[in-house]
Amino acid sequence: MKAQEKVIEKIADPARNTCRLCAPLGASTVFRGIENCIPLLHGSQGCSTYIRRYMISHFREPVDIASSNFSESAAVFGGRENLHTALDNVIGKYQPSLVGIATTCLSETIGDDVSLYIKEYNEKSKSDVPVVNVPTPSYKGIHTDGYRDAVISCIKTVSKENESGDFINIIPAFVSPEDLRHLKEIASDFKTDAVLFPDYSETLDGESWESYKKISPGGTLLSDIARIKSAKASIVIGSSLSRSGLSGSLSDHLPNSHFMNLPIGIDLCDEFFGAFEKATGKQLPEKYSSERNRLVDSYMDAHKYFFEKRAIIAGDEDLVVSLASFMSEIGIVPVICATGSDNPAAAEIIKKYAPDAEVMSDSDYATVLDKAKGMNCDLVIGSSKGFYLSKNLSIPLVRVGFPVHDRFGSQRIKHLGYRGTQSILDNIANAIIEHKQNSSNIGYSYL
Ligand code: SF4
Repeated sequence: MKAQEKVIEKIADPARNTCRLCAPLGASTVFRGIENCIPLLHGSQGCSTYIRRYMISHFREPVDIASSNFSESAAVFGGRENLHTALDNVIGKYQPSLVGIATTCLSETIGDDVSLYIKEYNEKSKSDVPVVNVPTPSYKGIHTDGYRDAVISCIKTVSKENESGDFINIIPAFVSPEDLRHLKEIASDFKTDAVLFPDYSETLDGESWESYKKISPGGTLLSDIARIKSAKASIVIGSSLSRSGLSGSLSDHLPNSHFMNLPIGIDLCDEFFGAFEKATGKQLPEKYSSERNRLVDSYMDAHKYFFEKRAIIAGDEDLVVSLASFMSEIGIVPVICATGSDNPAAAEIIKKYAPDAEVMSDSDYATVLDKAKGMNCDLVIGSSKGFYLSKNLSIPLVRVGFPVHDRFGSQRIKHLGYRGTQSILDNIANAIIEHKQNSSNIGYSYL
């Protein structure tokens, strides 16, 4: 379908409660995963307010996101002055190690040449603070695209080609701070030097402070991003990271890269740990074999609860792909797999993992609900946006991913590895049991 026809179709049938979020949100998350970095949105103030509000209520941490604060005149004549003033203010007030600029729909629509504005600023101010620029028009991409494009732009701008070093890169898609801590733990257990980028495990789930800090501590060091191109191998997890976008393709900047889906479920975790063994030349530590064996045991123990249950999986493409694989392993039938991205390759992978599922790309929760009525679904798994489905269909919602605005501890949800899979499995089993218990008027306490 031609782009113009697609736009006309969208106007005639607008999305309602989408499975997607806006692209600069993904870019801002990556910038918060770099030590002493400040995200700066080039456009109107409402965009950064919305993103801050969304991130704060999920991560429950302070999230500073600056804005170049367009007025009517900037929208008409361009945002050069606004961007220069914003850079002056941000660099003067925060003394950051890096400023990460993401554009918004407005600055993209008027065609602001942000790269030129940055060049002019550097010449004028003689600032030595590096500035990364990511184009993130939300009418051309979603938060996972903004996230991937920010990762690529940072590597392109900061990393230098050097002789190969004895370390690996781990590049994860948009996962939880708890997942990032787990990835670091795995690298440490493999006794390997690893650059994890981005790393918002501390900045977006930090400790309490004795005194106020302008920028939350933690994040990938700039010096580590600088050596990414010299790694002996790279493990890239999340289907959205394998696509090219407005900033190019990750595979062009990473040495010996292994691209794979998020490691959730036995198959994908085995692939992940296999990639780790190959990249490091070291054997799987015993601790993870034990976690795998416990997980296999719980697959058998919980089978009576899962067998032929029908699930809706909705949310980020990265999670939906891997959850489809995991659900099929444990005997739950994914009947609807809905993502906010418009990616035929991901839809094909989902179909491979879940052949009976209706795969819905570029979707919204209202359309998913229309489709789900009469399909006898037993549960929803996805972000808190899925509460809409769960309430309307009177079935439980197992909360994963981002955003989770209606529960506490969202930043500590485990998804990845045998341990993360175990946690999701336990939550699904308990949601099914709880629903059965609450729906019965007998009052079973033994199920
Ligand atoms: S205008 Fe665009 S960039 Fe701003 S919040 Fe909306 S979708 Fe995001």
